[in-house]
Amino acid sequence: MEVLGIDIGGSGIKGAVVDTKTGEFVGDRFRIPTPEDTSPPKILSRIHEVVNHFSWKGPIGIAFPEPVRKGIVVRTANFDDSWESVNAGLIISELTDCDVSILNDADAAGIAEVTFGAGRDENGLVMVLTVGTGIGSALFYDGKLIPNTELGHVEIKGITAENRASETARQQEGLKRKMWAKRLELVLWHYEKVLNPDLFIISGGMSNKADKMLPFVHINTRLVAASFMNNAGMVGAALHAAEKF
Ligand code: BGC
Repeated sequence: MEVLGIDIGGSGIKGAVVDTKTGEFVGDRFRIPTPEDTSPPKILSRIHEVVNHFSWKGPIGIAFPEPVRKGIVVRTANFDDSWESVNAGLIISELTDCDVSILNDADAAGIAEVTFGAGRDENGLVMVLTVGTGIGSALFYDGKLIPNTELGHVEIKGITAENRASETARQQEGLKRKMWAKRLELVLWHYEKVLNPDLFIISGGMSNKADKMLPFVHINTRLVAASFMNNAGMVGAALHAAEKF
């Protein structure tokens, strides 16, 4: 099945047609910047632009940077507060006249990784972390998603994991790689202590630099870089839609 996967991120909105049997793109991806104003009308018009670019009429899977339950945005941390309680799935479906499924972006990235990537064939508790503009989390037990975990907002020594170790924190504080890695180590060490996962997968912006970063991170749990790099959200959103429609 072919599904248009759209990943709505803090800096860009990306779309690609995904072959859900293989997780591969059919043709090129398309990216436009996320507007400064992240209120629903502005974001919705960018989503429409992506859909029009592909002249798409089939099912659409959306990865959204907030927790989402049954199509409804639960709460906001990245985007304008007016998204709260909005039935984004329904609105995007009406706007595009397509079947739409929507889920949290980290959950989407995680689905791509456990289906075709670094978490394939892994049992037990797998924790996928997207380290980018924020920190998103996706938990899987024996391959089944426990949705909408928000572990990036856990406070560690008075500072949230996201404010301590995201790409945004690195930029704002001018952190060198090793220092950034040590920040991540503290966060993972904390998660390890409370959740005892079997595997951590690091996805998002940081995964591009994983070979230079992860050797500095010393924890007891297995730690690997994601396979999909920045495409995981689109692939996972498409897989989620394929499951539904
Ligand atoms: C949000 C998460 C999201 C993550 C990555 C966090 O601030 O609360 O829902 O997955 O950023 O975009």
